[in-house]
Amino acid sequence: NTPNPESHRCGQVAVIGRPNVGKSTLVNALVGAKVSIVSNRPQTTRHRLLGIATVEGGQILLVDTPGLHREHGRYKASAMSRVMNRAARGALEGVDAALMVVEAGRWVDEDGLAFDVLRQAGIPVILVVNKVDRLKDKSALLPFLAEVARDRDFAAVHPISALKRKGLEALVRDILAQLPEGPPVYDEDEITDRSQRFLAGELVREQLMRQLGDELPYATAVEIERFVEDGGLLRIGAVIWVEREGQKPIVIGKGGARLREIGRKARHQMERLFGRKVFLEAWVRVREGWSDDEAALKSFGYE
Ligand code: GDP
Ligand code: MG
Repeated sequence: NTPNPESHRCGQVAVIGRPNVGKSTLVNALVGAKVSIVSNRPQTTRHRLLGIATVEGGQILLVDTPGLHREHGRYKASAMSRVMNRAARGALEGVDAALMVVEAGRWVDEDGLAFDVLRQAGIPVILVVNKVDRLKDKSALLPFLAEVARDRDFAAVHPISALKRKGLEALVRDILAQLPEGPPVYDEDEITDRSQRFLAGELVREQLMRQLGDELPYATAVEIERFVEDGGLLRIGAVIWVEREGQKPIVIGKGGARLREIGRKARHQMERLFGRKVFLEAWVRVREGWSDDEAALKSFGYE
């Protein structure tokens, strides 16, 4: 059942936008599985990652990125922020189109600048206006779209809700229209270019982003020390790195309660994603100043 290459399209699409607008949620919705972690904190995504959406008539390779951010944000001018910005810029190389994601009702100067950069690079831009489910006054949507699209040659404009999976079919059609004809690059059961080992680490980090208060998530990294198949079971060992001794008890919690909850939820997500039973062990260790230490970043998988 090989697709006819003449009617089949395949290409890369960069997913661009400010932190927290819903880029990773959109990638997951299009792929149909959680390949990219999501939290309500900005700068949850630290890596460039490919989400593979195999749809009728084509294959869309979605490049999810850490949003470009100023180097005096959460990570200050650390090695981490340089790594994240490099990943976001690299995402534009060789793409056939860009999805520019904004929140319904919110357009800022930065969005206009991003649009100009993309168009100057000759990249067709599809405007994705996300989180329409949150709009209290629905009648505000059309004037917002008209205002934003005025004087800007978007290839298409789509109001959607990535969370509620609304408006995705029409979006997919317009994405395909921007892609060159060609056979699929990946098998249809592949959902990302990243290994299961990498995804396991991300799912632990997702729980850190969600369960730790304020600043601490930004001081953590996850390293998967062990990833072995044992019959139908996956045995996974994760190290949660923190920057200071004093941060350890916060991650571990009273009587180990928080670390257990982080492990329980992460394991549940892994079992869903990998489709098999997971045995997960997690430890907390200290590596001082890891976020500004290029060697540490490399060993944690940040390239
Ligand atoms: P990213 O930083 O752009 O990748 O944004 P995320 O995908 O991590 O999402 C940031 C937050 O927005 C999360 O809490 C998501 O659940 C939420 N979110 C994403 N899409 C929608 C949507 O369509 N509607 C609503 N209400 N929330 C959304
Ligand atoms: Mg993200």
